[in-house]
Amino acid sequence: MKILMISAEVVPFAKTGGLADAVSALSIALEKAGHDVKIIMPRYYKIDRKKLTKLDGPLGIPFNYNETWSAVYTTTLPGSNSLPVYFIDHEQSFGREGVYGNPLEPDFHDNVSRFSILCNSAFQLCHKLNWYPEIIHSHDWSASLANVLLKFNQRWKPEFAHTASILTIHNLGYQGNYDKINYPKTGLDWINYHTSGFEDYGRMNFLKAGLISSDILTTVSPTYAEEIQTFEGGFGLDGILRYRNKRLFGILNGVDTEYWNPEKDKRIKQNYTVKSINKKMINKKFLQEKMGLEVNENIPVIGIITRLVAQKGIAELFAPTYGSAYNICASMNVQMVVLGSGETWCEDEIRNLQAKLPNFRAYIGYDEDLSHQIEAGSDFFLMPSKYEPCGLNQMYSLLYGTLPIVRRTGGLADTVQQYCEKTGEGTGFLFDNLTPQSIYDTVGWAVYAWYNKREHIEQMKIRGMKKDFTWDKSAKEYKDVYKFALKNICY
Ligand code: ADP
Repeated sequence: MKILMISAEVVPFAKTGGLADAVSALSIALEKAGHDVKIIMPRYYKIDRKKLTKLDGPLGIPFNYNETWSAVYTTTLPGSNSLPVYFIDHEQSFGREGVYGNPLEPDFHDNVSRFSILCNSAFQLCHKLNWYPEIIHSHDWSASLANVLLKFNQRWKPEFAHTASILTIHNLGYQGNYDKINYPKTGLDWINYHTSGFEDYGRMNFLKAGLISSDILTTVSPTYAEEIQTFEGGFGLDGILRYRNKRLFGILNGVDTEYWNPEKDKRIKQNYTVKSINKKMINKKFLQEKMGLEVNENIPVIGIITRLVAQKGIAELFAPTYGSAYNICASMNVQMVVLGSGETWCEDEIRNLQAKLPNFRAYIGYDEDLSHQIEAGSDFFLMPSKYEPCGLNQMYSLLYGTLPIVRRTGGLADTVQQYCEKTGEGTGFLFDNLTPQSIYDTVGWAVYAWYNKREHIEQMKIRGMKKDFTWDKSAKEYKDVYKFALKNICY
């Protein structure tokens, strides 16, 4: 099958979250299964042109009922055999720091233009390459316009007449909602403003248009596929998702097990496997030392790696006088290691906690090495998400023998099995209510098990490490969805 992936972020070129990992790993798994996959994404300022090959000639892209011009670069996706990634080098749009925004301008003022250019360029690139996909697979709001364009502007062309579109929702919370004055930049006619689904209370909404206009919708875990159809989890779009639910599928993300594998991981101090799990202790000591904590194998280490945004439960963890992190560290014999960046108040509060608590250490920023070292060196991993479409870190944790303590939501509910104190079964600790008290109690329960039921803890670690989270499994499910899409194009 010929598949064109469209995404604003793809590992290792640009990443702000799990979406970037998913697109690249899924593409590699599909290539391995024999499909002809290509990826298109922007060439951001940080992606070095010198490491890429320039395609001959410019690309003319429809824009604002007119035309704009871009160069196109290409390279092979690392980790694949020969999977090409095409970079739209539109300097005015992408030649700057940041994918969607930067700290001073979190949502770039010209994002409608930027992502309209990306999506429109996809079709022009196909013409340039004389390669036409059977499947256009767009990811999140920033690529969803491609599916809308396919339905309203492109399908009448013979090259795209039998192309089906998939939109994967990696996070329903980000929708691309803008003033409708920008609508002409999409390249769509005003006549399609309502029919395409763009109209949203007098504004324009990219994701909503994608949800209405795509042939098939997927999201990244079965439980999240259910949750987004409810008022509580639907971010105002639950009605549309209920309406289209025969075409909505939840497929759990996989993990890049080449990169996240304690047996091969080059970023950790000591490699280990299920058989040599005792060597995990070397990573724990290394982490304690690196973070300036007391080096003591008997004290449980709780790791946290996250974007510091409301979705991740940061208020319930870190808000002054409210959050549970202070009480956990002040009253339990534990150590907490935090890696994250995001909202300024939260970064400041984490610095405060670090100054007050000798058993709380944090690094504010993005650090790939440290993220691996925390996974390898921690005993527990805390993830009290408000909602979690899939979540990667709890899966990394399981594979690294680090027990997840998570809220029962989305992909967390699908991947972590509750600990049973009687039998010792389970792979982690779950709670339902997102309150500081529930987090405190569940961490307390895990810490109790650590000190009093050590044999259970050891069994759980091994059970987690044996889990199969490979992308091959997910890729098979996507293949079935692609087949279904081709038979069910919404003309
Ligand atoms: P989301 O995509 O909502 O941020 P996921 O759990 O799906 O959440 O994916 C987050 C990814 O980003 C994981 O690979 C995680 O390790 C990584 N990550 C998040 N914050 C940091 C950070 N500060 N430093 C290093 N890696 C981080």
